[in-house]
Amino acid sequence: MEGGDARRWLPKVDALLGAPEFAFLLEAYPRARVVEALRVVLAEARSRGGEPGGAGAAGTTDPAGAGEWARRVQERLQEADRPSLRPVLNATGVLLHTNLGRAPLSRAAQEAMYRAARGYSNLEFDLEAGERGRRYVHCVGLLRELTGAPDALVVNNNAAAVLLALHTLAEGREVLVSRGELVEIGGGFRIPEILARSGAVLREVGTTNRTRLGDYRRALRPGVTAAILKVHRSNFRITGFTEEASLPELAALARETGIFLLHDLGSGLFAPPQVLGLPPEPRATESLQQGVHAVAVSGDKLLGGPQAGILLGEAEVIGRMRENPLCRALRVDKVTLAGLEATLRHYLDPEEALREVPVLRMLRVPLGELESRARQVAVGLDGTAWEARLAPGIAAVGGGTYPGVEIPSWTVRLRHSGFPAHEAARRLRTGEPPVVGRVEEGELVLDLRSVDPEEVPVLVARLREVGGDGG
Ligand SMILES: *Cc1c(COP(=O)(O)O)cnc(C)c1O
Repeated sequence: MEGGDARRWLPKVDALLGAPEFAFLLEAYPRARVVEALRVVLAEARSRGGEPGGAGAAGTTDPAGAGEWARRVQERLQEADRPSLRPVLNATGVLLHTNLGRAPLSRAAQEAMYRAARGYSNLEFDLEAGERGRRYVHCVGLLRELTGAPDALVVNNNAAAVLLALHTLAEGREVLVSRGELVEIGGGFRIPEILARSGAVLREVGTTNRTRLGDYRRALRPGVTAAILKVHRSNFRITGFTEEASLPELAALARETGIFLLHDLGSGLFAPPQVLGLPPEPRATESLQQGVHAVAVSGDKLLGGPQAGILLGEAEVIGRMRENPLCRALRVDKVTLAGLEATLRHYLDPEEALREVPVLRMLRVPLGELESRARQVAVGLDGTAWEARLAPGIAAVGGGTYPGVEIPSWTVRLRHSGFPAHEAARRLRTGEPPVVGRVEEGELVLDLRSVDPEEVPVLVARLREVGGDGG
């Protein structure tokens, strides 16, 4: 049996460790890790029948053989040291890709987060008074200034914001929600479930396609109903024979009957939609002007900041949420607060926000520039086994916002002479940095709207690495 013979040719652990080829490994890593990795590599070779072919004959340290074993051990150690969470090149054209970490952050936000991470900060310390302060003061001034809200509270994410709002204002009592708004938003955020967890009782009103003011009025019971929750249908659209009660109508009803009107808005767009080429969408400012008591938005959707949930609203209402013990369990950390503050600061100058906040910038890149990025990729693949063609494409905002809104883009569509598109996609994903594209009709499609200009050479290098040279 060939395998049986070959196994005897495997070198011994001690002999290899003593070989000069292993010296650099023993210098770079603790001895125990090298030994462990070598054992694993040898065990793998044993189970396959003794490769690398004849190296280290009869337990000696044949120089070439030791070099090959060292290379394998090094590979194994490097792989083990690779972080689980690492940067990815997003070539999907989905700008706020929830699976890829949603919004990339501005340079200023990155730097602010780095500064907050590397040392101590006045997170909960009042520097003026020299005594204990509150983490919830940070960002509040900026949020008030930017949205006109009397008060603001930042928590872990928008789901937490909605949970906190409902728990604070409606625990043990009823909340009216239109049947057309009992939605699920990416990653298991379901309005009926979050409502149940908050301790509030869901009272469905209206129908899927039509809910009128009268439906709310009929369901409303003094002393039993605590609030109306209006949910922005951020990730789908209802068209056709539809009707919904407007915010001003609901606000008037809520105030007349002494209950609260809460608005789960989601997207957190602070910039005017028209300058981004997006259809009109309600923003927190408008929602507040129309009379809601509190509105909740995400920090890492179209606001373009770190993951956070932002509650904006009346001082009395936000104050109660801040005092709720549950707030402690949903609290935001210092690194996030630093990134959010830097992101918000961009919006003080609307031009600066469009320039510096990556999501806003990517939305506005002219088509001609995307085409030239695509061409740069195709040209970079000349003389390889890739066949590349440019084609217009459709990018998306993503992150459960702007459903059905098609953002024009440019793509590179690739075929490889040696393997099918899904294999090409796999190889791109599993290298360094991982590149994520999509496969369509037997082609690997890379959309340039979500690719930064500095990433284009990296993309080309990865494609060349995966595709090999020459046809
Ligand atoms: C995205 C979204 C949420 C969830 O926000 P997270 O920040 O992901 O927790 C809740 N409600 C609406 C309307 C949303 O669009």
